[in-house]
Amino acid sequence: MKKNTDQKTEMILGCHVKMTAPEFLEGSVKEALSYGADALMLYTGAPQNTVRKPISTMHVQEARALMAENHLPMDRMIIHAPYIINPANSVKPEVMDLARSFLIQEVRRTAEIGAEDLVLHPGSYTSTDLETGIRTVIRQLNEIEPELSEGVTICLETMSGKGSEIGFSFEQLEEILSGLVNPERYGICLDTCHISDAGYDLTDFDAILDSFDHILGLSRLRVIHLNDSKNARGSHKDRHANLGLGEIGFDLLHSAAANPRTASVPKILETPYINAKPPYAIEIDMLRKGVFNPERLEALNQKEPETE
Ligand code: FE
Ligand code: FE
Ligand code: ZN
Repeated sequence: MKKNTDQKTEMILGCHVKMTAPEFLEGSVKEALSYGADALMLYTGAPQNTVRKPISTMHVQEARALMAENHLPMDRMIIHAPYIINPANSVKPEVMDLARSFLIQEVRRTAEIGAEDLVLHPGSYTSTDLETGIRTVIRQLNEIEPELSEGVTICLETMSGKGSEIGFSFEQLEEILSGLVNPERYGICLDTCHISDAGYDLTDFDAILDSFDHILGLSRLRVIHLNDSKNARGSHKDRHANLGLGEIGFDLLHSAAANPRTASVPKILETPYINAKPPYAIEIDMLRKGVFNPERLEALNQKEPETE
């Protein structure tokens, strides 16, 4: 057990939550609150497909009321676009069409929910090359620009560089942003597992923020995905680990979360369930206290879940 007492910044902490019948979005907010979270992220349907129910059936008003009751502004609710959307694919016309039409729809759904940030993976270039992938994303996003609902920031996520993924360096993301006709509607979601897997060294998070600021501008940083990584730096694998149980380690993740320069940025956990139980209440509590205790996570492997 280790205690970090040097940093006492308030953190906005949330996690990935479900959105399922019968309470849908209201249930998502309840789930987040049950973990002690003050932010949340959800997919408006299964992440791996584009089947979506109408927003009118999703208990949006109840969810918004519950957020307000708990003094959570709507910018604490993040939407993640399904990862089968591949705006960098220029090989299959049907994938290109789907990326455009689904993104238009997903931005509209985000606006209807009243959320402000939609996280989007820039995609994979498949059988072409990195530059073609980057040019394709730019073209795809610019083509749908006139049809995108107002009030939603599309947050391009930093990727690990697994397979033919694009967007695994700040420079690549900047190249995308600089090609967009309306860059003001875009932000960045920084994923700690992904950037570590992409080769960034999280030992000095201030240096990462300096580089981010220099290349992209810190004001573009809208969301942080706070995940440990199952693999060593530079592995390009993208396998998330529970905080402190991976290669980045609790101390570096805690100091990233506590960095005062990102105090207003929601940190969202996308760490794996343990023994089919969500680890988020424990991970959020450990972050708030600055105390890592792996036994608390390991306790999830026992029959009775921890109730502290
Ligand atoms: Fe993501
Ligand atoms: Fe992520
Ligand atoms: Zn990931």
